[in-house]
Amino acid sequence: MTHQSAPDLLRQSLGRAKPLLWLNEDRIAVSEALAASSVRGEAVREAADAFQRWRPALRTLFPGAMVDGSIASPLERLREASSVLGYPLSGDVLLKRDDLLPVAGSVKARGGFHEVLGHAEALAMSRGLSREEALSTPAARAIFGQYAVAVGSTGNLGLAIGTVAAALGFRATVHMSHEAKAWKKARLREAGAEVVEHAGDYAAAVAAGRAIAAARDDTYFVDDENSLPLFLGYAAAAWELAAQLEAEGVRVDAAHPLFVYLPCGVGGAPCGIAFGLKQVFGDAVHCFLAEPVAAPCMLARLAIGPGISVYDIGLDNRTAADGLAVPTASELAWEATHRLLSGAFTVPDDLLFSLVARAHTLLGLRLEPSAVAGFTGPGWIEDSEEGRRYLSRLGTGVRPTHLLWCTGGSLVPDAEHAANCERGHGAPA
Ligand SMILES: *Cc1c(COP(=O)(O)O)cnc(C)c1O
Repeated sequence: MTHQSAPDLLRQSLGRAKPLLWLNEDRIAVSEALAASSVRGEAVREAADAFQRWRPALRTLFPGAMVDGSIASPLERLREASSVLGYPLSGDVLLKRDDLLPVAGSVKARGGFHEVLGHAEALAMSRGLSREEALSTPAARAIFGQYAVAVGSTGNLGLAIGTVAAALGFRATVHMSHEAKAWKKARLREAGAEVVEHAGDYAAAVAAGRAIAAARDDTYFVDDENSLPLFLGYAAAAWELAAQLEAEGVRVDAAHPLFVYLPCGVGGAPCGIAFGLKQVFGDAVHCFLAEPVAAPCMLARLAIGPGISVYDIGLDNRTAADGLAVPTASELAWEATHRLLSGAFTVPDDLLFSLVARAHTLLGLRLEPSAVAGFTGPGWIEDSEEGRRYLSRLGTGVRPTHLLWCTGGSLVPDAEHAANCERGHGAPA
C-alpha cells in the first residue's frame, strides 16, 4: 500500500485549483515567535511615528488629495454581511477600507510611501538638509532630481511608488508585468513616471527592474520581493486599527478574538499587516491569507517549502486579481510570519467577480477583484469542518469578530468597474 503524505495531497488539491482552507500547524505563541523574529518589534512603532512626522510634507506634496497628510483609511461595520458575502454568519463583520487610501487607492500606499519617503529623507539629510526640510522643500527637490527610483510591479505598487517618487522630484521608473492594466500605466505616465512594459510575469518584471537599477548608481530600487521598509510600512497599519477598534468599542481579547482576512500576492502587505497586528493584539488576533486558486504562492511556501512556485504545482498564475498574480512568495514575508499566521485559503476568480458585484450593488463599494479575496474567510471559519475545529479550540461560546481587509479599488475607472460587476452578476454566487 502506498501512502501519500499530507503535503502531497495538498499539492494535488492546489494543483487542481480547488478552493481550500489550510491551517498552519507551525503557529506558536506570539511572545515566542516575536522573540525569535529577525524583524524588531519596535521598528513597527518607528514606522507609525515616521508617518506622523511626514504629514506636513505629504500635505504639501499632494495638495487636495490628502485631508490631513495621513496615510490612513476608515474602519466600517459591514451592513447586510450575509447578503454581501452570500452565506449566513454569526459574528460581526468589519471592513478596513484601504481601497480609500489617499493618492494610491490601495494598500500599497502604506508600504510604498514608507519606503520612498524614508529613502528620500535619508538621502536629503546625507546631503546636509535638516529633517524638517528633507522632503518637500525646493532644496530637497533639487537633490532628488539627480536621482531615480525604480520598482517592478503588477500595477498597484508601481502606482504608489511612481506617484510619490515623481511628486518628490525623482525620476521614477516602473517595470510592469503583463497583467498590469492599461489605466494604471496611463495614470502613472500622467503622474510623470516612466513605464517600462514587460512581456513576462511579476517575478520577471521585478528581476528586470532589479538588474537595470543595479547597473546604475543613481537609482534606488524598491524590491517588492525582499523589502523591510515596505513590510514595516504595512505593519504600521496595526496601530491605526487599534485606535479605531477602541473608538468603535470593539473588544479584542481571548474571549473576543479578532479574525483578519488579508488578500496576499507576494506577501509583503498581508504578512506585514499580520506582523503588526500580532505585536499589538498578541494571541487574540488570528490572521488568514487569501489567494486566488491560480496563484497561491504563499500558501505553497508555508505548506510545502522553500523555492516553490505556483508553476511547480501545475498552476498558471493567471488571475483577474492582478494585485495577487505572483508566482513565488517573498522569503522575507514568510520568514517574519510563518509562525504567526493562522492559515490561508484560496478563491476562484468567478467568485471574486460576484463579490465585487454584490459589494457594489448592496453597498455602493468600488473594490477591485484582488480586494475581495478575503471575503470568503468568515465562511471558511464558521462554516467548514476545519474552521469550526479551529474556533472550538479557542473555547466554548467564543464569538469571533471578522475583519475583511479591503485592499484596493477606488481608482478603478468606471468602465472597468462596470465590466467587473457585469461579469460578477453573470457568475454563480
Ligand atoms: C499588492 C496587493 C495585495 C497584496 O500585497 P502583496 O504585498 O503583494 O502580498 C492585495 N490587494 C491589492 C489590491 C494589492 O494591490
